[in-house]
Amino acid sequence: MTDEPAEPGDRNTAGGRPILAPGQSWPVCTCGERMAFFFQIDVPDDVPDFGGEHLLVFQCPVHNEAAFGPARLPDRYWETPSGGYDMAHWRFLRHRGGDVADVEDEVMQPRRLVLRAAGPDDEWDFRVGGEPAWIQGEEKYTCACGAELAFLVQIPENYGFPKLPEAPRQPDTFDSNAYGLLLGNMVYILACPDRCDPAAAWPANQN
Ligand SMILES: [Zn+2]
Ligand SMILES: [Zn+2]
Repeated sequence: MTDEPAEPGDRNTAGGRPILAPGQSWPVCTCGERMAFFFQIDVPDDVPDFGGEHLLVFQCPVHNEAAFGPARLPDRYWETPSGGYDMAHWRFLRHRGGDVADVEDEVMQPRRLVLRAAGPDDEWDFRVGGEPAWIQGEEKYTCACGAELAFLVQIPENYGFPKLPEAPRQPDTFDSNAYGLLLGNMVYILACPDRCDPAAAWPANQN
């Protein structure tokens, strides 16, 4: 993440304006809140299964909880509360192409993200493609469509996305100036390689 402000039309950003597929609407939590826009990236072409896709990551600004689910995920698991929590409070979208939304996120500081190729021994924070670094052993999930989910992105524990000064403090946060995904857990975004739905992706959480 850079200190440079993201501009509308930038494709690798934290916050700012999401690039949504035609007809794709801004995700809303079970509670009715418009989700905060954490980040978006163009997945590099050399990432197996997902190269050339655009990934968007959202979470409710009010609801902040880890995600737990069964290894065989239920129908429309991205909008089905799971793991004893009564909110479907996160959403990950993928598409190819898309248009810049005409409204901007109101929670995060818009920042440019830069992706670069990493060697096996490089320090890293975000990881896109390659092998996930499991801290509690590998987890496997089967999509509702029957495909085995494949690794797409890893976000480190307690990774803060800087918030706008006027945005409220995130509930249960580890950093009063930032928002974290899924209670600050390590997040492994696993996604459906068969693309059965633009939202067919699951966050494995570990700590
Ligand atoms: Zn909510
Ligand atoms: Zn699927």
